[in-house]
Amino acid sequence: MKNDEYTDLKMLATFVAQRMEMCENEWFLNQDMLNDVVNKISTFSIESEEKSSKEKTLADFALEKQGVSKVSCVSEDIGDGSISEKKSLQELYDTVCGCLRCPLGENRNKFVFGDGNPQADIMFIGEAPGGDEDMQGLPFVGRAGKLLTRMIEAMKLSRKDVYIGNILKCRPPGNRDPKPEEIEKCEPILIRQIEIIKPEIICTLGRISGQTLLRVKSSLGSLRRKVHDYHGVKLIVTYHPAALLRNPGFKAPAWEDLKFLRREYDGMEL
Ligand code: SF4
Repeated sequence: MKNDEYTDLKMLATFVAQRMEMCENEWFLNQDMLNDVVNKISTFSIESEEKSSKEKTLADFALEKQGVSKVSCVSEDIGDGSISEKKSLQELYDTVCGCLRCPLGENRNKFVFGDGNPQADIMFIGEAPGGDEDMQGLPFVGRAGKLLTRMIEAMKLSRKDVYIGNILKCRPPGNRDPKPEEIEKCEPILIRQIEIIKPEIICTLGRISGQTLLRVKSSLGSLRRKVHDYHGVKLIVTYHPAALLRNPGFKAPAWEDLKFLRREYDGMEL
């Protein structure tokens, strides 16, 4: 491939990745057509100017923006204790990107590491990737992700200001709830991400992620509007954006949660 063709394709892939990161993924295409386009670009082999044969995907470009290069992923498993030594998101990614510690790794399409500012003060954490996320290798890129973007913007922030991830890095089949043994295997990756990013505050999205990280069975309602502690970091619980799509009546209390979050973060009154 000629250099200018490589540059054009890289620019196109970067543009698509940015649009999708901003959840502007409808354009003039319906979702099926968009997924088709994305899959074609994602799996298109991009040779480097030195004729490298390594493949880059949309997720690779998003990861590169975080200073993480997926092409260095060579691991197939992670050994106990190995990830606690990793000093950067890149080192951590290199170690865990081929993880097969639980059966979800065997059936994933894409490993969903996380997305956003590697020095973010605020982290949003959901429970696990869904179908769109599994296809694209990025967290919160479907309809719920689009709403999450609006929620972040309503807080007078952008997706580029925060870091977004999940407890599990691989999609559970049929989007079922994560199993305790999967969480046990996967949570060390999230904990190390938090240790590296050092956020001031974490916002869990949905009952499952809140209960899971806090090791409680309490209702979402009883966990909201409180500041909890997760490995020394403030943690606030709110609704999953998918729940807001299903039940618009949750939007008003969710907005109260976001105002509470912003107030806890820097005192700003929304
Ligand atoms: S869900 Fe987590 S523990 Fe399981 S294979 Fe994926 S990365 Fe590994």
